[in-house]
Amino acid sequence: MGVVTDMPQIPDLLIRAGRVHGRDGQVDVHIRDGLVTDVEPSPAKAAPAHRVLEAAGGLVSRSFTEPHYHPDKAYSRRLAPPGLYDGFARARTIKAGFTVEDVADRATRALRLASVNGVTALRANVDVDSVAGLTGLHGMLAARERVAHLMDVQIVAFPQEGLGRDPGARELLEEALRLGAGLVGGWPNVEDGADAQRAHVREVFDIAERFAVDVDIHVDCMIDASETMMEFVAAETLRRGYQGRVLASHCCGLEMYDEADAARVVAAVAEAGLRIVIVPINLADGGPRGLSRPRELMAAGVVVAAGSDNMNDGWYALGTLDPLDRAQTAYHGAGFHDDASVDVAWDMVGSQASVAIGGRDGDVLIGESADLVVFDVPDRATALASMPGRRTTLRRGRVVSSRDTTGSPALEVVGA
Ligand SMILES: [Zn+2]
Repeated sequence: MGVVTDMPQIPDLLIRAGRVHGRDGQVDVHIRDGLVTDVEPSPAKAAPAHRVLEAAGGLVSRSFTEPHYHPDKAYSRRLAPPGLYDGFARARTIKAGFTVEDVADRATRALRLASVNGVTALRANVDVDSVAGLTGLHGMLAARERVAHLMDVQIVAFPQEGLGRDPGARELLEEALRLGAGLVGGWPNVEDGADAQRAHVREVFDIAERFAVDVDIHVDCMIDASETMMEFVAAETLRRGYQGRVLASHCCGLEMYDEADAARVVAAVAEAGLRIVIVPINLADGGPRGLSRPRELMAAGVVVAAGSDNMNDGWYALGTLDPLDRAQTAYHGAGFHDDASVDVAWDMVGSQASVAIGGRDGDVLIGESADLVVFDVPDRATALASMPGRRTTLRRGRVVSSRDTTGSPALEVVGA
């Protein structure tokens, strides 16, 4: 080894003959010290790099972001008691049996799958309540260390059982924030009546302010016009001066409002700078739930991303943790059918998902971290259509994961 220090003028890695969205022809992507240092027409004029990844005309994209997932629950479906069909009760029963090591193992397995699918940043909602205690949090902190070479993981302390309904959650949330959770979560839906739901939202913000952390809150999870917390969260965000620091997920009630109410709420969400994460599996998950109004929100300038939420757990038996799975479902379910639709769906798991959790905008950019995915197909539309397909995930310029469902050999770095 020692190639990089001996020959500093040579890039760490050259991705040869790839395609970058929005650029004509094939390009070579140079990577040094974990950063993209150049993108130039292929073949590169510069001296060949010692290590080469042959993209062979495949798409080179920035890696994906998973903005809403519950890894503490991953692969726990087998623990569900037979005959219990209420998702909330089922998930509660399952988590009562969690141990720290069990959560750490299952979460690690899920995050490795996400890496294989091209994810290098993930926001994890972890149950912190009287049933789970801090077990899920400790398991998740351990899992985060195990996958630190694969991705950045943000942890949201999530009171799944409520705050009014579960008064013991308050102290646990605060302890979770002291122990390493970076955000406070919420789920007003679980409370009994609108007043209790508003009190839940206010309390989440109180905790956020006390700990100087951002908010990531589940709102309006059912497709029902009586779900009105999205507008209240927007108002509370403005009142607290928390613009740009709040992510709201699901937001299904908006879909059922009449046009005047919907326009008013969308304007309030835009003014408050709320970031929205829709959950496309809502369409499949026993309903009645929907996809919010992503097009109207985007038209108002709101950041809208798509998250996985659940996989093989008490809430949802299936799931793939594949960003392109979410993008494809959003593409169909949200009615994106114009020329830009593939890009809109792609960005909901790429640039917009990143911005939603505090990351950067844009695709492959010089000077940015070389967190990339190399496909064996030339463009986004083909990658979406041929999902899951063959992928190679790079994290800070290193190949960390790959998947191959084509039967052909996985891509390998050739050289030192
Ligand atoms: Zn969720």
